[in-house]
Amino acid sequence: MLANYTRSAHGLAELLQREGVEDKDVLAAIADVPRHVFIDDVLKHKAYQNTALPIGQGQTISQPYIVARMTELLRLAGVRDKVLEIGTGSGYQTAILAKTFTKVFSVERIKALQWQAKRRLQNLDLYNVTMKHGDGWQGWESQAPFAGIIVTAAASHVPQALLDQLADGGVMIAPIGNEDQQLVMVVREGEKFTQHVIAPVRFVPLIPGDIE
Ligand code: SAH
Repeated sequence: MLANYTRSAHGLAELLQREGVEDKDVLAAIADVPRHVFIDDVLKHKAYQNTALPIGQGQTISQPYIVARMTELLRLAGVRDKVLEIGTGSGYQTAILAKTFTKVFSVERIKALQWQAKRRLQNLDLYNVTMKHGDGWQGWESQAPFAGIIVTAAASHVPQALLDQLADGGVMIAPIGNEDQQLVMVVREGEKFTQHVIAPVRFVPLIPGDIE
């Protein structure tokens, strides 16, 4: 069973390479991280398909292509060091970040998801991740600045706190919009923020306010 899953993760990496993902470290991370660990039993058979899947609480584990692409965009922009993820969810994107960056901080507003993700990453011996139950709109001020920020839920507009917490030369990748969402990349140079539109995307919303 385990051998099959290992082969499947490799198969998924090969599929994503054919879809255009180029960064070797990102592809190696996809081949290495068992995605089925992040998915409920009834859906595990779909773990290595290139699709988003429900993870409970009305949330989804992102499509592998988008996970790989967002990670690759940060790496191609030169980010290596300290990254912040908003929306831990299942923890799968977090695990891919843990394999491709030196240090990862991740914020999730639903406590049950955050605890589950924390256990999963510990079981995979990924110790360069620090997680917090909190509101991602606020970022993680005490750990700032971040070389990279990745947001995995769609905000109506780029959260100001995240811009403030980006290091000089830092890069943020985030889906922006409500119904019509665009993946955007924001590059910080001093107090100048340059925004590039990457592609249309579809994410669950970045919920404002209270945490659960
Ligand atoms: N990267 C995750 C994506 C999960 S979906 C994965 O692939 O599994 C997006 C996640 O963002 C959900 O878990 C949701 O609870 C979380 N989220 C939504 N609004 C948030 C907020 N304001 N702060 C932190 N997390 C938030």
